[in-house]
Amino acid sequence: MTYRLEEIASITGSTLTGRDCRIERVITDSRNPYDPAATLFVAIRGNNHDGHAFIRSLYAGGVRAFLTDTDIDTAAYPEAGFVRCPDSVAALQRLATYHRNRFRGTVVAITGSNGKTVTKEWIAQLCPPGVKLFRSPRSYNSQIGVALSLLMLDGDERLAIIEAGISEPGEMERLERMIRPDVGIFTNLGDAHQEHFSDLGQKLNEKLILFRQAQTIIYNASAPTVAQRICELYGDRQLAGVTPQSYDLSTLPFSDGASRENAAEAIALYDVLGFDRQPVLVSLPTLQSVAMRMELKEGISGCKLVNDSYNSDINSLALSLDYLVSVAGGQPKILILSDIRQSGLPAEKLYEQVAALLRTKRIDTLIGIGEEIVQHAASFGCDKAFYRNTDEFLRSYNRTQFVNKSILLKGSRAFGFEKISHALEQRTHTTVLEVNLDNMIHNLNYFRSLLDPGVRIMIMDKASGYGTGTYEVASMLQHQGVSFLAVAFADEGVTLREAGITMPVVVLNADSDSFEIMIDYGLEPEIYSFSSLEAFSQAVRRHGETRYPIHLKLDTGMHRLGFTESDIDGVVAALRNQRTLYIRSVFTHLAGSDEERHNDFTREQIARYTAMSDRLLEAFPGEHIIRHVCNTAGIERFPEAQFDMVRLGVGLYGISFAHQEQLLPVSTLRSRIVQIKELQPGETVGYGRWGIIDRPTRTATVPIGYADGLDRHLSRGAWSMLVNGRPAPIIGNICMDTCMLDITGIDAREGDPVTIFGAEPGNTVSDMAAVLKTIPYEIMTSISTRVKRVYTKE
Ligand SMILES: *Cc1c(COP(=O)(O)O)cnc(C)c1O
Repeated sequence: MTYRLEEIASITGSTLTGRDCRIERVITDSRNPYDPAATLFVAIRGNNHDGHAFIRSLYAGGVRAFLTDTDIDTAAYPEAGFVRCPDSVAALQRLATYHRNRFRGTVVAITGSNGKTVTKEWIAQLCPPGVKLFRSPRSYNSQIGVALSLLMLDGDERLAIIEAGISEPGEMERLERMIRPDVGIFTNLGDAHQEHFSDLGQKLNEKLILFRQAQTIIYNASAPTVAQRICELYGDRQLAGVTPQSYDLSTLPFSDGASRENAAEAIALYDVLGFDRQPVLVSLPTLQSVAMRMELKEGISGCKLVNDSYNSDINSLALSLDYLVSVAGGQPKILILSDIRQSGLPAEKLYEQVAALLRTKRIDTLIGIGEEIVQHAASFGCDKAFYRNTDEFLRSYNRTQFVNKSILLKGSRAFGFEKISHALEQRTHTTVLEVNLDNMIHNLNYFRSLLDPGVRIMIMDKASGYGTGTYEVASMLQHQGVSFLAVAFADEGVTLREAGITMPVVVLNADSDSFEIMIDYGLEPEIYSFSSLEAFSQAVRRHGETRYPIHLKLDTGMHRLGFTESDIDGVVAALRNQRTLYIRSVFTHLAGSDEERHNDFTREQIARYTAMSDRLLEAFPGEHIIRHVCNTAGIERFPEAQFDMVRLGVGLYGISFAHQEQLLPVSTLRSRIVQIKELQPGETVGYGRWGIIDRPTRTATVPIGYADGLDRHLSRGAWSMLVNGRPAPIIGNICMDTCMLDITGIDAREGDPVTIFGAEPGNTVSDMAAVLKTIPYEIMTSISTRVKRVYTKE
């Protein structure tokens, strides 16, 4: 797109203050864009985040055009132009609508409950050579994402494929006005995002609003509800009801029903648009599964490896570089990039844009792979090396180059970067704990929605983030408006600092042996006794520091650590008239906040805390001491006790005490079948021969045992794992490193994935805790460190 800012003001019905300039792209994300001088920043106010707060830093980074819905002191930005409108999101959508209406190619909109992104990507993968196609990046399918996608259209594309997703009634109306598709594709109807709809019928009607003006609609004819409704509403259009039987899919490399439906709908699009079928079908055998998420893995020699095999275009490259920057901490950043295929831009211009992007993201080293990128080597200013293809890289790369680096792998499919990923990954144990960082943010925001304005959040990151891994969680939270992190021991805090975490970190079990190192690393202790107070004060004086922050713990009934009521005068006396320490916060911990039967006791604890902390606040007026009481259950059950801050623990990781349905699961423990056996009655399985076979039985051996944290009490059918979606009970006793499952009647092959616990009802951490008569906390923190953690992010 190209517009003058003046034009944008008039398109959105607003006025321009300050300078006019040329705009080629629009962003809503406050991270520095790669082409600041031609970028319009749309400042959006969200629940947890106000885009207007970033205008200053974006201006400093060279951005000169802003669209706002709040009054800004424009005089402070003499070189910029401001478009002031009543509602930034509405203005962005008007601009997108305008841009779409000028577009002369065919706009295809995809909606449905599942499979939207896969169908979109497969349409792109099947696109015959020479046809310029645009598709919305990743899952940019929301009110803002769709607007940004449409604004990425250059205008000379033949096809624009736009994904549309909704979670609430009323939203599709606005998406339809922007996209106004010529062709609509409906993938399927499931119960995702059901919470805001009264029933499936309502959700279906809402989704179908998208096709109000479409001339052609493609849908799955074997789903009767959807097919019938489409025929009722849109009988006057060109309707293409397809099923997997509509085409010869024998060369499709996937056999599951969902993949066959997605492929059939993708082929149908080219059919209804009058393309020759042959050039489309030749690509069918090469369709690839769509990795929807970026994976962060442990690499060789202390490296972090971000593997993003999602489509490689410049828009998604910008997104994955942002992710690389956020995980890198202090590590140097390496990008391994293949030729970018099908960008629609002249190569010269494309690689200039890539080079600009690498400059703004401060990428230290580029490793370019491909015949095309090599020719543009001169565009890149950073350290660089080039290889003609992936195999050449693998033959000649030097392992010593990859020590303590953060690496992003971004390759077009044809380059087979999974081989590079395999080479740079730390040797894998097949069993992994997959941690979904997007869901963690969702959970954080759920708890945030329960807080009064201004109440801050401390995240409890002890026991390695309840088993999920300390650093990765911390580096994400640093960008999410969290005020403090708390860890159990000083060395956990040191690890965070060494990895580049700069936010305040509290150490809960600070013992006097570690005071020196805590001060060296700027870690703040919980102080719970006079002896720890005195010892810490001495350590700070020895370091020659003054006004070092401490966090006072009060014991109001938990009787674990903390000062009691009668200690308060002594604490006041010790801290008065000195400049070595100051009280940054004062807190207590609730012993039974999750249980109804302890409600009276909890209220008593809160009252005691209020009285004790009041005395401290009175003794140190003007110190702005932060008060905090609530853990996860406290936040949900005692809103009156929020004070200035809350301490969120297990809730972040997906466990609720009041509204489990509001949270998303964070951890999935997975493994794979390494061997399948057919056993006959009379045989037995495992140690002690406890797995007794009394009918012909298929067993699967899975490489996870009690040394990985799979409690041995789950043996002999007490727990079932999921194999291809079906429960498979553990047969016999769990061994140290392996266990066996009964998979009789389940369609499974060696190498198939197995879910030990995850999101499915009956298979969750909470279900496992119930079997073991313990709490989810213990299960989560018992997964051994030899189980690799893999982090996923959209
Ligand atoms: C662990 C802990 C929390 C968090 O508890 P959750 O129940 O996991 O929310 C809060 N405060 C203190 C002092 C803790 O030790």
